[in-house]
Amino acid sequence: MARHLTLKVDVDTLRGTLEGVPRLLDLFDRHHVKATFLFSLGPDHTGRALKRALRPGFFAKVQRTSVVEHYGLRTLLYGTLLPGPDIGVKGADAMRETARRGHEVGIHTWDHTRWQDNVRMRPARWTWHEMTLAHDRFTSIFGRPPATHGAAGWQINDDALRLLDTWRLPYASDGRVADGETERGAFHPWVGGRKLDCVQIPSTLATLDELIGVDGRDASGAADALLARTAAGDDDEVFTLHAELEGMKLIGAFERLLTGWRTRGFELGPLANAYARLDLRRIPTRRWSWGSIEGRSGELMVTGAVGPAPA
Ligand SMILES: [Zn+2]
Repeated sequence: MARHLTLKVDVDTLRGTLEGVPRLLDLFDRHHVKATFLFSLGPDHTGRALKRALRPGFFAKVQRTSVVEHYGLRTLLYGTLLPGPDIGVKGADAMRETARRGHEVGIHTWDHTRWQDNVRMRPARWTWHEMTLAHDRFTSIFGRPPATHGAAGWQINDDALRLLDTWRLPYASDGRVADGETERGAFHPWVGGRKLDCVQIPSTLATLDELIGVDGRDASGAADALLARTAAGDDDEVFTLHAELEGMKLIGAFERLLTGWRTRGFELGPLANAYARLDLRRIPTRRWSWGSIEGRSGELMVTGAVGPAPA
């Protein structure tokens, strides 16, 4: 039986939308693969992330992946010395082209930097305002509401998860499976004493940039490490990549990974396919929590304890 692997592409910046996305579309066409692309739909304020340089742990990551090299100096100035361009306006054609070529499209965020800097402590009103901006913009670009959502930086709050239910999204991929966690599959979030309908399908694998520089690995060494991690077991896997990284400087290493998975018999596809494979009567209810992931600074949404015992 074929093993399955979901490809989830996070698109964070204008440069990633205009340059990384078209390259990934060509790569996926060559390999006859469909993926899920999640777009940042509002202003590109990536430069404000420079402020995070003052936080511990960031410099290690900067040195490992060379943020300036990957993102470009211009991107790092957006929202600081240069005004942040509107990705959903300047990148609308690239986004529509992604859907036209048969890929699944969904919401990543409105303003990536503002979301990551605020989502943990802001109330419902702030969260819903940001998400509604993204939803309205998505609908005006594509002429239909989004099929799915994958939170920026894998950061979320309870009110955001509730809004996904209000939007009636069948599934989303907002978080990660914690290092060492054995239950790695889809779940219904248990939020505020209630089971939410929108099924969470978490990312199960480390990203390439989390593995580069660890144990002296270069980009292709990181790809090989991921191939080794997926060699055993029979779980469905979910891999997140970034248009700014795997669509640009890391595209060679990513193609090595793609080829490796295909020759090992993996069927690669979008989140919609992962959802279609689920037995909806057997999806557990679980809590989520903030946790850290090896190789990534800060905390993010990780799958937590199995939810309340049935009454
Ligand atoms: Zn992102």
